[in-house]
Amino acid sequence: MKKPNVIMTIASVAACKFTRFVLRKTGRGGTAVPGIVAMKISKNILAAVSDGMKIVVVTGTNGKTTSCNMIEHALTASGCNCLLNKSGANLLHGIAADLISNATWLGKPKYDYAVLECDEAALKQLVPFVNPKAIVVTNLFSDQVDRYGGVQNTLKEIRTGVERSPKSTLVLNAEEPLSASLALNVPNKVVWYGLDASVGVQGNIDLSDAGKCPKCGGDYEYDYHVYAHLGGFRCSKCGHTRQTPDVSVTSIDKIAADGSTIQLKTEGKTQTVHVALPAVYNVYNAAGAVAAVKAMGLPLQKAIDSLASVRSSFGRLETFDLNGNRLQMILVKNPAGCNQAFSYVTGFDEDFSAILCLNDRTGDGHDISWINDTDYEKLCTCPHLKKLYVAGDRAADLSERLRKAGAGDDLQTVVTDYNKLLEYLKQEKYPIFAMPNYTSMMELRAVLNQVSGNKDFWE
Ligand SMILES: [Zn+2]
Repeated sequence: MKKPNVIMTIASVAACKFTRFVLRKTGRGGTAVPGIVAMKISKNILAAVSDGMKIVVVTGTNGKTTSCNMIEHALTASGCNCLLNKSGANLLHGIAADLISNATWLGKPKYDYAVLECDEAALKQLVPFVNPKAIVVTNLFSDQVDRYGGVQNTLKEIRTGVERSPKSTLVLNAEEPLSASLALNVPNKVVWYGLDASVGVQGNIDLSDAGKCPKCGGDYEYDYHVYAHLGGFRCSKCGHTRQTPDVSVTSIDKIAADGSTIQLKTEGKTQTVHVALPAVYNVYNAAGAVAAVKAMGLPLQKAIDSLASVRSSFGRLETFDLNGNRLQMILVKNPAGCNQAFSYVTGFDEDFSAILCLNDRTGDGHDISWINDTDYEKLCTCPHLKKLYVAGDRAADLSERLRKAGAGDDLQTVVTDYNKLLEYLKQEKYPIFAMPNYTSMMELRAVLNQVSGNKDFWE
């Protein structure tokens, strides 16, 4: 992509920085507007401000933000000077705003490395400008169906992005057949990560997202299952199959609230590793982060060691202190994510209360029919669940669904006012798990910050 001349570069960078400054002064962080302004002035400004940077782009439906966090942490631990687009604005203009704001006034990048979270449909727009060294695809689950028309369309969007970036190394989940199919018919190198059969995690089998074999249209068979449609898949007709991971988890020794202890095998060596974020899906994210560092051509040991000190990010298992009681927040936005969250919160031998919040705004997807495909029964029938608060714009629909799942009036309370919810939470004596979707998370987080003092991400 041709870079703009120096005058246009300076004008575009100045407009971006000035717009962002003004927006933040008025309390609006993390918006795409500064990027829109900058790209109006110079369409190719992104090519200038990313020139020479070594960039990892992370896409996929679940786990993007946590993966980005882990990769940035691993790169920083490896001695790299690394930028992360923290604002959560993961469409083209939001990413542009972050990259431009972190360049000099002459449009030269201040960082050598960048980890960029990118929406699945925006990948094809972004890659021609930034020439990523690696593209990480976390996984593909049904998500926000009304935006992309289903998971197969999302896969096509990502494939177009990959085809526009043939020199990028792909970092792919070996057990997820949809994103694994991106390796077919492209010249890109691939680094695979995954969980071996010996890990023995047996989640619920749900093949509704798995699709058919991309080579021959045959059905997949599984040697073993991890969760949803992830596992040791193999086409019964043509033999298209899971690839052996370059970074693989050979066993999970312990899963606890403060993280997991795993055996990680890479480059012929197996070692005990602590991943400081809980739940099986974070074991995947951790293996993916190490694979991303491998794709960047860097030594792995410091990256592997960094997994023990990784911290949760904005809304992904973020912990709040409510007058001495613990509240953990888990962003949930589709059935697969919800089911994993339920496995996590019901997996401890301790009583707890829970909050479920459901909005249906643009940032969430307007179609909430996915709640019918979600295993709320697992949560509602857990003997440790003491109280269930239901909030958000669509609290009434969710409450109805929870009633069917076994949560009667003795268990659930619908609270649509977040300040009132906060009053209830302050009285809670059990640890609390909050599971909001995206825009409801922002609202819940705002009231929680009044008592716990966590900072907004741009502060
Ligand atoms: Zn096949």
